[in-house]
Amino acid sequence: MEFFKTILIEEAVNIIKEEFKDYKLESEIVDLDDAYDKVLYEDVISKEFVPEFDRSTVDGYAIVAEDSYGSTDTIPTVLEIIGEVKMGDRTELVVSSGKCAYVPTGGMIPKGANAVIMIENTEKMDEKTLLVQKPVRIQENIIKRGEDIKENEVVIERGKKLNPAHIGALASLGISKVQVFKKPKVFIISTGDEIIGIEEKLEFGKIRDINSYSLKAQSKKIGLEVVGNIIVKDDFIQLKEAILDGLEKSDIVLLSGGSSVGERDYTKEAINSLGGKGVLAHGISIKPGKPTLIASAKGKLVIGLPGHPVSAMTVFMAVVEPFIEKLYSLNTIKPTIFAQMTENFPSSAGKDTYVFVNIKKEEGKYYATPKFGKSGMITNLSKADGYIVIKIHEEGVNKGEIREVYLL
Ligand code: AMP
Ligand code: MG
Repeated sequence: MEFFKTILIEEAVNIIKEEFKDYKLESEIVDLDDAYDKVLYEDVISKEFVPEFDRSTVDGYAIVAEDSYGSTDTIPTVLEIIGEVKMGDRTELVVSSGKCAYVPTGGMIPKGANAVIMIENTEKMDEKTLLVQKPVRIQENIIKRGEDIKENEVVIERGKKLNPAHIGALASLGISKVQVFKKPKVFIISTGDEIIGIEEKLEFGKIRDINSYSLKAQSKKIGLEVVGNIIVKDDFIQLKEAILDGLEKSDIVLLSGGSSVGERDYTKEAINSLGGKGVLAHGISIKPGKPTLIASAKGKLVIGLPGHPVSAMTVFMAVVEPFIEKLYSLNTIKPTIFAQMTENFPSSAGKDTYVFVNIKKEEGKYYATPKFGKSGMITNLSKADGYIVIKIHEEGVNKGEIREVYLL
């Protein structure tokens, strides 16, 4: 019987990153409307100033700020109204001391003015006379030309996953087409004589295929395109063919089950029979998820995940996610909160332990309660709100401790 020589999660991730450091993703040009959630392929550099001209941020009167100094409700400053700036029009008005012009929000600031007094702080006596009842600072309520975006400025960096604000920034520059990464393709293989499709009749002793579905969803969540999935029996030939088919169609092949060292665990053998480097590592110091295979076949990444659904998902989060980030040159920050543990949780010696938790918020403070369950229980994960990682050198987590919780 062969034993695992387990490696740390970080080592596993590094092995993959190193092996596939030259793996290039293709790019494509998409309409701005289809760019949301895609990853930017190139820095976007502005060819314009935004705004193009000094604009008011409020409805009010463009004035010379110094005129307003000392103004109050009881001792207002009297200014002559010389006209009105029309929204969307270039204005030829010129404001000088003692004069003012009405400007709507977003309207162009007339020459000579250096501040805008909000309409709420004025009183219009008649068509020509305005009372200013409060002082304003120089440049108050004005957004200067180029204050938002300057010419030649990097507006969004390569590797950013485009969010709604990015889409807005691109629109502000009139950019209607964007170059983004094509999604990496993934093919998913569930292995096991006992595994049946979820639409099949469940006979005693059979297990419904959870992993195909949870892994497909996880893949989609991190921006992969699932090109296919199949259930394969514990049969060397069938498994080999399925992997070959997957390699033809995708950038990454994910298998689940059969990754251990049991008699009917053929994943390692099948991968090694394909030529290329084959299995690079077998066994990761992670709980749940130890029996994991990391391999390279035909220049592509193949990962043999454990069969237990929670283990498979955990290894996906720990190993596949960081690699995809790297592939995309993504720079995302995982959403986390800091929460106080409500119970002790022991960790397993020699492993990074992923502990799934429930979170509640009371009087502005977050509390995390660990879920005690076996790695085969999918509800252990589906009912969780997040997870903490107890690192290999730690002895567990204590009640009362504040921990960073990764949100699911
Ligand atoms: P294995 O890694 O093949 O030894 O499988 C470990 C456990 O996970 C076994 O109890 C399998 O029945 C179960 N398992 C394997 N693949 C799946 C799957 N696709 N869906 C649900 N359970 C699975
Ligand atoms: Mg199996």
